Amino acid sequence: MTSQMPDSNISAETHVRAPSAVPVDDAVIPFEVSALDLRGRLTRLGPALDELLTRHDYPAPVGKLLGEAIVLTTLLGSSLKFDGRFILQTQTDGPVSFLIVDFQAPDRLRAYARFDKNRLGEASDSGALLGHGHLAMTIDQGPDMSRYQGLVALQGGSLEDAAHEYFLRSEQIPTRVRLAVGEEWRSGDGDKPKHGWRAGGLLVQFLPKAPERARQADLDPGDAPEGTVAHAVAEDDAWVEGQSLIGTVEDVELIDPDLSGERLLYRLFHERGVRVFPPLPLHAKCSCSRDAVASMLKSFAQQERADMVKDGKVSVTCEFCSTVYDFTPQEAGVE
Ligand SMILES: [Zn+2]
Repeated sequence: MTSQMPDSNISAETHVRAPSAVPVDDAVIPFEVSALDLRGRLTRLGPALDELLTRHDYPAPVGKLLGEAIVLTTLLGSSLKFDGRFILQTQTDGPVSFLIVDFQAPDRLRAYARFDKNRLGEASDSGALLGHGHLAMTIDQGPDMSRYQGLVALQGGSLEDAAHEYFLRSEQIPTRVRLAVGEEWRSGDGDKPKHGWRAGGLLVQFLPKAPERARQADLDPGDAPEGTVAHAVAEDDAWVEGQSLIGTVEDVELIDPDLSGERLLYRLFHERGVRVFPPLPLHAKCSCSRDAVASMLKSFAQQERADMVKDGKVSVTCEFCSTVYDFTPQEAGVE
């Protein structure tokens, strides 16, 4: 996985732009705090998230968890170039047994969760909803590039924890991730308040020019013999400061519809100077099509296709967007 940020030929002086007061929803905002060697991305999601979650009418805890996975995906996938694809999946033994978020660069998102309604009551937080299993992140940069897959064990912790684990083990880049999802009720046309989902997230990485500054304190001794004292590493002062600033972000700030992303970044980092890059828009858009479903049907054996005929037609529902595609038996290749 790459963690590339937009090319930035940063001048030595601190660059502070007056923050825009206009909230930008459904976008990823790349930024940089060069005084602390920090680079990051901030995601704000409103209508696009609402569309992804409302299409399935998920129970609130499932919507919240899938929302977190969607935010994490935007933070990780938005560094892809051109027509790359980033897929985040979980497979676990908890009440939410399967999650998938599919991000197609530059801006398309789709997502889906499978869950057991009867078991939702047993879980009190995202970690318990997931249970034990693994998180897989796949990067597909097109037919000429090799596929990359990263795996992280899920052991009852949150997706934030899993992301930290991933960056610690695989990328070895000091990284902090924050994810927040909330429900909002605003006064609608009638007496009924209008429900909406909102989310926000922050990914910050410490990328100093001298790699030895990026040593991390929390690597455990791994395969070292039992009783070995963990090697104490002093974290770089800039990263210590960066983490403490990120630690002040509250969930309400991440999802506040009246607080623009730029203003939030300015609030966090203004003392050090933050450079904010143009936002990258995000859209809830499925990539399914009648043609794609038709060719998928062709991959089944004749007998399997025949078994799919119900009430004189073959109906295929897209799990991502719930679109139903109907085919006549002839169109589905059934004699
Ligand atoms: Zn679809």
